[in-house]
Amino acid sequence: MKYILALLTITFLAFTAQPSEAVELLHTYDSMKDDTQELASQYPDIAIYSEQGISTGLNLEIFSVDVALNITELTAEELNALPTMYVDGTHHGNEGMSAEASFLFLQDILERSAADPTYLEGKRLVVTPSVNPDGYFQDCRNNWNGVDLNRNYPYMWGMYGTSDTPGSCPASGTYRGPSEGSEIETQVNMEMMRGMNVYVYFSAHTGSNDIVLPWKITGEYAVPIADWDLYEYFLNESTNVSGLTYRDPSGAGESIAWGYGARTAISVIVEVDDMQWSPIETTTIRGALTNELLMYDLAWENLELFGGNLEITDESAKSITVMNIGWGAAYNTTAGNGIIDVIQPGETITINRNGNFIEYHRLIQNGEEENMTLIVNNLTVIQTTDNESTPSMSFISTTFCILTAITLRRNE
Ligand SMILES: [Zn+2]
Repeated sequence: MKYILALLTITFLAFTAQPSEAVELLHTYDSMKDDTQELASQYPDIAIYSEQGISTGLNLEIFSVDVALNITELTAEELNALPTMYVDGTHHGNEGMSAEASFLFLQDILERSAADPTYLEGKRLVVTPSVNPDGYFQDCRNNWNGVDLNRNYPYMWGMYGTSDTPGSCPASGTYRGPSEGSEIETQVNMEMMRGMNVYVYFSAHTGSNDIVLPWKITGEYAVPIADWDLYEYFLNESTNVSGLTYRDPSGAGESIAWGYGARTAISVIVEVDDMQWSPIETTTIRGALTNELLMYDLAWENLELFGGNLEITDESAKSITVMNIGWGAAYNTTAGNGIIDVIQPGETITINRNGNFIEYHRLIQNGEEENMTLIVNNLTVIQTTDNESTPSMSFISTTFCILTAITLRRNE
């Protein structure tokens, strides 16, 4: 009887203690790696976990998950041509909530895509929860060499807000590194992004609960963002769903500067909640990231609208009518000799069927490769015999993806 009473008491205490004293633990580097691998393995048709590189000091994996429909059947070129959203976390190893945001978003996309494949159709997601495994493992901001990886990228490197002396653990310093792109982790992340047709790049950090632009657009060192109208449109839409406002960065050579400047992705830092520095007692990790995850969803669900996006609305033997359904301007280069038209969002134009292609640039920013943002729609394969005046987008997408793959290969 005494034994039963004791058991009942323990059961009762365990039951009543839970709700008020529950503390949800953040992942460690090891548990994040295991859980990410396990998560991807549950969706073998749409997700591939892979090792991208090895960290500087502790030889830890920089791992990522690649997500696309029927991913195992795609060639590398087909995969690389898909419009892509890239999400990473923990450039700063002591900002664990940024890895959590990446992981939860990956989980959401996989669950929704498994339930409804159209959620994934025609696009690709790549997620790297930790760009800085040594820092994440040790709870340090910088990498093994004391370099602030988010000051090390070779775009506006060292221009402002960086230090020339190595930082120490856990949280100090903005050391830009001995030369631009000097660090292994930086190089691994750049190599990954070079294999993507990346439209949107969200790099997660923690602390200020806002959005950071790729470089300063006000004050000293200001440089205009070429596609500012598109940025502003997205940022306003984003504020509507997330409540997050945006600001200039505090340092140069950030991953997002390279993401936009060199790779022409609409790139921002998402500064999520910094609850890794205090026990999570009042909410869950997911609860603390609700607003940011809504912003990630917004970008994913509208990925093809990041930039000009010409949809064919009508065509005849001699001409073709297109509407720009994108959030940014489309720069029509169909005639071959540079930009012949700027087609604003919502604008419809009719162009002569001079050649076999509609060619346009979805952004005006020039990246590190020629024609990075070029979209080519092959007109010769669009049939009008069935009186259908609006060819299906999936058909066009497939065509231009293949052609974009050819274009990308040509420019490597
Ligand atoms: Zn950070």
